Amino acid sequence: MAYQSINPFTNQVEKTFENTTDEELEQTLTTAHQLYLDWRKYNDLEERKRQILKLGQILRERRVEYATVMSKEMGKLISEAEGEVDLCASFCDYYAAHADEFLQPKIIATTSGRAKVLKQSLGILVAVEPWNFPFYQIARVFIPNFIAGNPMILKDASNCPASAQAFNDAVKEAGAPAGSLTNLFLSYDQVNKAIADKRVAGVCLTGSERGGATVAKEAGANLKKSTLELGGNDAFIILDDADWDLVEKVAPAARLYNAGQVCTSSKRFIVLEKDYDRFLKMMKDAFSKVKMGDPLDPLTTLAPLSSKKAKEKLQQQVATAVENGAKVYYGNKPVDMEGQFFMPTILTDITPDNPIFDTEMFGPVASVYKVSSEEEAIELANNSSYGLGNTIFSNDSEHAERVAAKIETGMSWINAGWASLPELPFGGVKNSGYGRELSSYGIDEFTNKHLIYEARQ
Ligand code: NAP
Repeated sequence: MAYQSINPFTNQVEKTFENTTDEELEQTLTTAHQLYLDWRKYNDLEERKRQILKLGQILRERRVEYATVMSKEMGKLISEAEGEVDLCASFCDYYAAHADEFLQPKIIATTSGRAKVLKQSLGILVAVEPWNFPFYQIARVFIPNFIAGNPMILKDASNCPASAQAFNDAVKEAGAPAGSLTNLFLSYDQVNKAIADKRVAGVCLTGSERGGATVAKEAGANLKKSTLELGGNDAFIILDDADWDLVEKVAPAARLYNAGQVCTSSKRFIVLEKDYDRFLKMMKDAFSKVKMGDPLDPLTTLAPLSSKKAKEKLQQQVATAVENGAKVYYGNKPVDMEGQFFMPTILTDITPDNPIFDTEMFGPVASVYKVSSEEEAIELANNSSYGLGNTIFSNDSEHAERVAAKIETGMSWINAGWASLPELPFGGVKNSGYGRELSSYGIDEFTNKHLIYEARQ
């Protein structure tokens, strides 16, 4: 497998990275395991808190430099990349501030004696991460697990090696000991080998269902815990009492942010019959105003897709949708630019027998559905293999909340597009995976809840 940094705006190969050898993997496992043992022995949480705060400081000081690396490597807008670096820095502050609270022993009420549960580290984790948020995805798993005392081996996407290495180097610069985070350029076989190694305690993956199923199978075969953050086909539901000024402000960006390459992008817009034409027109107006161009230019509003492969896949998916009866309301025309640009597209008339009905499209393609009632909207939202997130618009927060509770997803956002903050648990159900990242839930995933019990004599 070639680890290559190819700029999707210029199509230039910027750098190729050497694959990790088996000896380097073994060396990394040895160092990381020793670190796990040392951390258990000396429990230097205070030191790790200082190091993670230092990482936050480095990220803030060099945000433009890191943002540029990401932008050149997978094409995201520079403003979005800078926001991503800031968000990662906020994770550092959050976990340093809450480390003691999250890891403190819990006293269990029992009349039978004395009981408490310690939260202890488990060992080395393997993290397999995607390219769409090159820093954020690593930060989401590394920072809580570093605080918990779990060293991490990182296998990042093969099209984002420079970003992964930059994050790795920032951690090193923050003073984290060798083995805390080691970015390796691993083959799939080596990932399996690492998962099977007895020094490794678990694996977390963010990515596709295909990748997730393969890695989870390997974890299961070796009785290792896994967490999976997979794709989504999130519904954006506009209820009868929605504030349309807000809908118009949020809906286009909910689909186009990061060129539509977000697991929690709103992908299926579910609109009542009476609002359908108005919604389509509003989306078309917004989509037709985007400015494609150099992601490093602050005036650009729509970035290229991350790679040629990503563009070809999306093109094929739209073709499949149309072959099976979907209508193109707007877009789907070739873009006469060198980079991997995809014209924002609006599809309608997608019926449940269309293969695209239950397929995630990872790019600037909005599917719009017409429904005649709120019940139908909920039913349609739930008619999906995925269960990551959804967005609900209503002037009445309690009404929105009641609808949200009926939707089978891990997350619901009310009157706003999707959001990720350090204190909010992130994750899905159904084919969108299992486990949670961020918040106290995230740090709990890979800790041993160790019961200490003494029965009353
Ligand atoms: P992908 O192909 O599964 O790749 C993700 C990562 O998994 C990459 O590092 C990839 O390595 C690795 N990988 C894939 N198959 C593997 C295998 N058999 N063994 C070991 N490693 C393997 O996913 P993608 O299509 O690039 O990423 C986009 C997907 O991620 C979308 O579906 C998106 O919705 C999802 N996503 C989910 C979340 C969430 O939090 N739920 C967040 C972001 C993205 P290579 O690059 O070397 O193939």
